[in-house]
Amino acid sequence: MPIYEYQCLDCDNQYEALVFSSDESEPPCSQCQSVNVIKLMSAGCILNSGAGASSDIGASAASACRPTGGG
Ligand SMILES: [Zn+2]
Repeated sequence: MPIYEYQCLDCDNQYEALVFSSDESEPPCSQCQSVNVIKLMSAGCILNSGAGASSDIGASAASACRPTGGG
């Protein structure tokens, strides 16, 4: 199952949550239950965001984004 990382804008708490489908609603903060949260991307995924992404780097980044172990 896909696990996404979120950050609470109210208390800056970072937490992970399972996302079963492309639901629009983010899971509330695990610390203060606030819904004012943002979804974080994996470190390898935010590289070259906006910059001219070449297919070579794109493929490498995509590979880095894949979780290890499979599922
Ligand atoms: Zn919070």
